[in-house]
Amino acid sequence: MKAAKEPEFKIWCEQCYIRIAPNEERVMNTGKIYHTQCYSKLVTTGSVATDSIEKKAKNAARRLSE
Ligand SMILES: [Zn+2]
Repeated sequence: MKAAKEPEFKIWCEQCYIRIAPNEERVMNTGKIYHTQCYSKLVTTGSVATDSIEKKAKNAARRLSE
């Protein structure tokens, strides 16, 4: 049995409001999705909270050192 229709991939970047293609690289943060480039801009301007990501990185580093 064939699937009738594939669900459309509808994701828009929260920064530039341009649709992100399924094969395009994207970043998810606090439930919002951005282009990789747009996200890195937000990070450099400090418009987005990166605490959780930093904490995750620190936890990962801690786990490795244990
Ligand atoms: Zn964007």
